[in-house]
Amino acid sequence: MTVDEVSRTIKKTDKLHFLRLSARWDRSVVPIYEAAARGKCVPLLKTLLTSRCRNECAYCAFRAGRKCPRMTWEPRKLAEITKNLWEEGKIMGFFLSSSVFKDSDFVTERQLETVRALRNTGYTGYVHLRLMPDVGQHYIREVIELADRVGVNLEAPNKEVFSELCPDKGGFEESVLKRLEWIVREVRGAKTETTKPKFGFAGAGVDTQMIVGAAEDNDWQHIQTTEWLYKKLGLKRVYYSGFEPVPKTPLERRSACPPSREYRLYQSSFLIRDYGFTADSFAQIVDDKGFLPNVDPKLAFAKMNPDLFPIDLNTATYHEIVQIPQIGPVAAKKIIEARKSIKIRYAANLERVIGANLTRRVGPYVELKDKRLTNFSKSK
Ligand code: SF4
Repeated sequence: MTVDEVSRTIKKTDKLHFLRLSARWDRSVVPIYEAAARGKCVPLLKTLLTSRCRNECAYCAFRAGRKCPRMTWEPRKLAEITKNLWEEGKIMGFFLSSSVFKDSDFVTERQLETVRALRNTGYTGYVHLRLMPDVGQHYIREVIELADRVGVNLEAPNKEVFSELCPDKGGFEESVLKRLEWIVREVRGAKTETTKPKFGFAGAGVDTQMIVGAAEDNDWQHIQTTEWLYKKLGLKRVYYSGFEPVPKTPLERRSACPPSREYRLYQSSFLIRDYGFTADSFAQIVDDKGFLPNVDPKLAFAKMNPDLFPIDLNTATYHEIVQIPQIGPVAAKKIIEARKSIKIRYAANLERVIGANLTRRVGPYVELKDKRLTNFSKSK
């Protein structure tokens, strides 16, 4: 059911349902949904604090001028509901975002009131706080003490797209990037402290989200910004939210972002974060309009760089090994461990380390004396 369909039948008692559904545009987690936290999948209660907003973001169902139900949680009530769901074992965590119903500080104070009240009940579950652009620096310390993950949505890959989509959310650099920098700095400082409780202190890192396809943005812009967010700023996670047109918004006639575009961006971002790829690695893959092809970007990179292959698994570095299509960090680590005791010269050697299927698939990219296997795979 869409937000508009819910709005036609909504009653006051449906607040939990509505505000949870309303949080669906933030893709970092999904309502009571499985979300990754500290390497585990956990069911989270995901909700907005309110759907009342003073802003007019072009893509948003809750933009000020759009008619839709407006509801607000009373912080202590939301804390109580969350605690009860947690005690009943229905959730392991809580994700709190919000619309901007007065100003950022007003929203942050209510977010903090909620999480403070929740922690005061003895709740030690996971908390993910999505802060508002322009959040005051003086709140950051308490936010990271209470939450396990903290972020501010970037919404766009650059300031031009940001101003087009979010005309009254402040400046891209001042209102969002600077806030992310403050949070990262505070989290880094907290890591050096010795007396930390078992929860909070943004142990699961800092994250952000960009909307894809709501403006004339291209994949190359998202990839460059993603590299900067991971490598320079030190974010733990960059999420992409494929644009979906919402009726009665300025972008209602714009086509939705294809799920494949969001998926290829995720694949590219993991290559940057975990595999040592740089944004420049993708410069040769994107087309002249800056879009990725709808294929595995690592495979596309390998095809554009035949001179990098085949790779000698006996001498290659970890990063050279994870550049091989189909080889992920787990297989790469197994190869590095195995070669301490064996030479990987034949397919049979490699099969013993990563299995026959994977060996057959990586055949064209590694140096093996079994020419038949290598040539057979190349012809596929
Ligand atoms: S600030 Fe923008 S994106 Fe957030 S709820 Fe308001 S209109 Fe929507």
